[in-house]
Amino acid sequence: MGADSGNGVRQVPTFCPLCVSKCGAIATIKDGTFVSLAPDPSHPTGQALCIKGKAAPEVVNHRDRLRYPLKRTTPKGAADPGWQRIGWDEALDTIAARVAAAAGEHGPESVVFASASPSTSAMSDSIDWLNRLRRAVGSPNFAVYMELCGWGRMLAPMFTFGAPVPGAYLPDLDNAGCILFWGYNPSVARLAHATATAAALRRGAKLVVVDPRRAGLASKAAHWLRVRPGTDAALAMAMTQVMIERGWYDEDFVRRWTNAPLLVRRDTGRLLRGNEVFAEGDPAHYVAWDGQVAQPVAYDPATGQYDTDESRLALRPHLIWGCCGSQDPA
Ligand code: SF4
Repeated sequence: MGADSGNGVRQVPTFCPLCVSKCGAIATIKDGTFVSLAPDPSHPTGQALCIKGKAAPEVVNHRDRLRYPLKRTTPKGAADPGWQRIGWDEALDTIAARVAAAAGEHGPESVVFASASPSTSAMSDSIDWLNRLRRAVGSPNFAVYMELCGWGRMLAPMFTFGAPVPGAYLPDLDNAGCILFWGYNPSVARLAHATATAAALRRGAKLVVVDPRRAGLASKAAHWLRVRPGTDAALAMAMTQVMIERGWYDEDFVRRWTNAPLLVRRDTGRLLRGNEVFAEGDPAHYVAWDGQVAQPVAYDPATGQYDTDESRLALRPHLIWGCCGSQDPA
């Protein structure tokens, strides 16, 4: 806690919890009242605050802010809910008893937990605890809304790394030589990313922005790719094509962590199955090409194992396995 400077004013290093950006900040407390929030440039995410962060004292001090648990005393639908202030212990006991009763009578699956989005609310700091409580109750149900950017941020790591990356992570913008924003405007969505990107541009990094609008840092981008809304996939496919043609990918990684080695049927466009190639083949298995011995090999998705060493898998086959076992020059 910051020391009193002698006139009843204290400066307290903190961070703004109002979204996942968690911008480092200095809170000014005057005579015990929180009066202002300012950026803390000594903090990794403290180069700037958005208008919401600057308005934090209004949120904290607003006369309508809910500061205590309230209990409804009239039936739902009544014109006046009859809110009555209760203590925290009574509130917790009431909620725990209701949850335990529902779980006991109908099973824990009957209980649904719900939350504001952690990306854009103060739930950012509490969401993990809420999930721990949900798991302790045994409920699989969690209702949470998510912003458009959240789907990409959460699901892209799941597809890329096999697991979600916690929302508070910061890409390595300090060391990035090229930064790609795809439908992302951190100037309004995540200030810490915007300020870190501006610093990266000052030291010479290149920025590419894919966005129908020239929004935020798009005006400073080396390339602003103004796609028509809904055509992102075409751009992504085109970029992927160029990367494949020019070999701009890590072959070992692609063999080990993607489905690129798996063969696709020409006639159906679907992945070739083990029973379509091997006499005793398993329909649950897929098929790749062992480039060293020029033969098909099975892949078991349940174990993630090929019937050969992964380093031998062909990524650019000169032979493609057609349907029903025929070999067909590509
Ligand atoms: S971007 Fe704004 S709301 Fe989010 S943490 Fe920073 S100052 Fe707070």
